[in-house]
Amino acid sequence: MDCNEFKREMTSLFDADVDKALAAELKEHLLTCSACSADFYEMEEVVECLNPRYLPSAPVLLKQNIINHLSKEKQPMKNKTTRTFRLNSTIKKVAAIAAVLVAVIIAIPLLHKGNESLVGEAKAGNSLLESSIKATGLIKNMVMKLRVRTLPNDNFALVGTEYDMVEHTISKSFEKPEKWRIDKGGRVVVCDGKQQLMWIPMANGVYKGSLDAGFVEWFRILLDPESVLRKEQTGITDKTSEVRMAEKDGEIHMTVTSKAQGNFINDYSKNRSINESDNRREYVFSSQTKLIKSLKIYVLEGSKETLILETESIDYNVPISPSTFALALPKGAEVTDLAAVQNIKSETFSTISSKRAAEIIFDSMAKNRWDAVKVPFAQYNFLLMKLIKRKCSGLKVVKIGEPFKSGLYPGEYVPCEVVLRDGYTRKICLALRNDNENKVWLVDGGL
Ligand SMILES: [Zn+2]
Repeated sequence: MDCNEFKREMTSLFDADVDKALAAELKEHLLTCSACSADFYEMEEVVECLNPRYLPSAPVLLKQNIINHLSKEKQPMKNKTTRTFRLNSTIKKVAAIAAVLVAVIIAIPLLHKGNESLVGEAKAGNSLLESSIKATGLIKNMVMKLRVRTLPNDNFALVGTEYDMVEHTISKSFEKPEKWRIDKGGRVVVCDGKQQLMWIPMANGVYKGSLDAGFVEWFRILLDPESVLRKEQTGITDKTSEVRMAEKDGEIHMTVTSKAQGNFINDYSKNRSINESDNRREYVFSSQTKLIKSLKIYVLEGSKETLILETESIDYNVPISPSTFALALPKGAEVTDLAAVQNIKSETFSTISSKRAAEIIFDSMAKNRWDAVKVPFAQYNFLLMKLIKRKCSGLKVVKIGEPFKSGLYPGEYVPCEVVLRDGYTRKICLALRNDNENKVWLVDGGL
């Protein structure tokens, strides 16, 4: 492989389902050519920074746009059809698994039906869960170490079979006010009982949010094992899950298999044919205490199964240093107060449609009038703003499409087509949300 070929193909290294032979050739060239490796690492850095995933609430589906954008930016000559196809299949998988997890883990049952009609293992499973819920209600604190297939710097919600396992630590104090910390290396969220703070080292930023800020997304349910158990109980009494039980050596093993019911069923998702995936949860309980000792979650795709989450250890009622539930502000970090964002006021951006908001935002970027868009970019810190300015100053708007809603995202997506200064056309799906006090449209991702 020569340098030209490498430059043309290097973005393939970001594809999960890259052709193995091609990847091997690229890696070989990467190792032997310093000019190309410098190019590659520079691009990798840019890709990392452009991702909206550094925003606290960037929706998973927006990754689509970034990767599409990347392929256009770096490979204008390449055959678009094959490339888009390959990328889409990767994204589809990521989104499908996110949907599975949202459906399986986040939904906390409101009703709990009786177990009169249950027989055999379902009945045993149900009563084990009942005892476990009682036991879990008495614990004072918990430290859970787990591995999840994700990216260390990404949203907590991001999970995909193609990623490597990333270590996470969850610490939780159940004494009122409840305090907790979730650390995945590239992101740390701490709840000190009054507020949540998220530290993102890569953006050198700290986001401050209320007690119910969505920084950790569906991970929140892992903070509350009781909810996980109740969810499983509902699956069993509803007969939407199949349960297998076995007891040995002081442990009770419970395996629950069920079909996922995705929530991503509107048009946007249908276009991407997001399928539901079956999945299996393997629990181990202590026979004596009835507390969960371990949990594994597998995604089942046809005959293939992938372990996507696995606990390494769960310790109950252990000493936890008070400093665990406090975040020492890193030097030079910029603090963005999302409570202030919640109360933001703007006559202009609160009385219009999301489409009109997108028009104003793109028009201001085209004219380099960044002061005019301070309000919609309130969630972006200095570093992120710098990147956006570098990329979007002087762009030209080709078309702004009709807004739509998708999945669990509370805002709206506005599909847009723009030409950046480098002359290439980009399709952008701007995520705008106005679920704040004064219904002001805020940019939430997509750029
Ligand atoms: Zn080279």
